[in-house]
Amino acid sequence: MIPIKSLEEIEKMRYAGAVSAAVLEEVCNHVTAGISTAELDNFAKNVMERYGVRSATFGFRSGKRVFSGYGCWSVNDEIVHGLPSERKILQDGDIISVDLSMHVDGFVGDNTRTVAIGAIKLEVQHLIDVTYKALLAGIDAARAGNTVGHISAAIQRYGDENKLGIVRELVGHGIGCEMHEDPQIPNYGVAGQGPVLKSGMTLAIEPMFTLGSGKISTDSDGWTIRTIDGSWAAHWEHTVLITDSLPEILTLLKK
Ligand code: MG
Repeated sequence: MIPIKSLEEIEKMRYAGAVSAAVLEEVCNHVTAGISTAELDNFAKNVMERYGVRSATFGFRSGKRVFSGYGCWSVNDEIVHGLPSERKILQDGDIISVDLSMHVDGFVGDNTRTVAIGAIKLEVQHLIDVTYKALLAGIDAARAGNTVGHISAAIQRYGDENKLGIVRELVGHGIGCEMHEDPQIPNYGVAGQGPVLKSGMTLAIEPMFTLGSGKISTDSDGWTIRTIDGSWAAHWEHTVLITDSLPEILTLLKK
């Protein structure tokens, strides 16, 4: 069942989204050549503490495994769920997807950006740009009366038109008091298929594209998911509210 948020819950989701966006901005501004993902994780922990919010990923359980990062730090060919590491030091020309999800006053905000370190290859910049545009297209399709398939199809079109790999085994998701709620939101699909979107639903929309096939493999740490062919990956995410008119991006940075 897909929860419909009350007006009061929507206000709390707005607040969770605004704080999540501010935290992501501050952490992404801290990304630089020479820093390790462990240092970034510690920085994110401190920023979250200052805002009085709790990471939704630290202590997150999947079976017997427990995630140990305050954020997810996925570098180059890593797509999602990269664990922080002192040995993983960012270098000029790298990219990192910073995925931060947090509990704010009982509700969760979730957002991701792929950030370039120094000068990156043109094809990698194109990958980042197209994945971001796919996110915006997916959000634009997130309207009451449409279906989840409208979002999926809008994202897929960007990937296909630009001959990028679409990561099919990972999905966006409903979000609310829990980080993951119904529905699942694939990054490929057919407009008109899947659950109908209604005003008051809150969704985390998150395209993941690669320069290769889009197929994935999981590292022996049990968490880090990377491309099977070593191609680089980009990932963008916003938490979005379905309304009676235009979709509202809850994790849009308020300047
Ligand atoms: Mg998410």
